[in-house]
Amino acid sequence: MQQERRAVAFHRKGSIVRMLLVEDEQRLASLLQQGLIDHGYAVDVAHDGTSGWERIQVEPYDVVILDIMLPGIDGITLCRKLRAAGLNTPVLMLTARDRVRDRVLGLDSGADDYLTKPFAFPELLARIRALLRRESGSRDPVLRAGDVELDPQARTARRGTRSLELTSKEFGILELFLRNANRVLTRSQIAEHVWSDFAAESNVIDVYVSALRRKLSEAGEPNIIHTVRGIGYQLRSRDSP
Ligand code: CA
Repeated sequence: MQQERRAVAFHRKGSIVRMLLVEDEQRLASLLQQGLIDHGYAVDVAHDGTSGWERIQVEPYDVVILDIMLPGIDGITLCRKLRAAGLNTPVLMLTARDRVRDRVLGLDSGADDYLTKPFAFPELLARIRALLRRESGSRDPVLRAGDVELDPQARTARRGTRSLELTSKEFGILELFLRNANRVLTRSQIAEHVWSDFAAESNVIDVYVSALRRKLSEAGEPNIIHTVRGIGYQLRSRDSP
């Protein structure tokens, strides 16, 4: 767990491709994770479907590699949940047997590609590259919720026609909220995203969120970041997924 956290923290600073590997076979999972890290990817591992789903909801992954047979939520169900939540992250499924039924179920659940175990590592790399190529052609990089817009590449944010002057931490928090519109984020989820090594002091998060709120409503616009008592915060927008 400690190791996973460190990998995330390190890679978040760059524009390195971030992926989540959901695989319950621990040996295979760590072999793949190490191999992918050696090839410059940032890789988080979840060993069951439930924790995989928790991570997917919070982290903006570029690729998800999903085993089908998993404890907790299975890969097919997890993929359906992901698509139902409006997430377009490319999904590569790992099927244990070369069964037509598994492949069809996988693709129908919203997976973009599949690979049958056992596979050669170079083939996994090639399929990831293909998914990323496909993704870069179609992706709208601008995040939106209501009249709030954020462009992660240009590092600009606006509300309506008004451009927002945000510090880098405020920018990071707003980006996290927009990627998770209408989901409740805990203070520690926010802290983990914006600070790489952070002992979550909830008070600090509150200060940043208040500052962000003020800037978002500076011209009298309605507040969109709501406090969820005892849990954290939620960006509410009717027109976002
Ligand atoms: Ca498995």
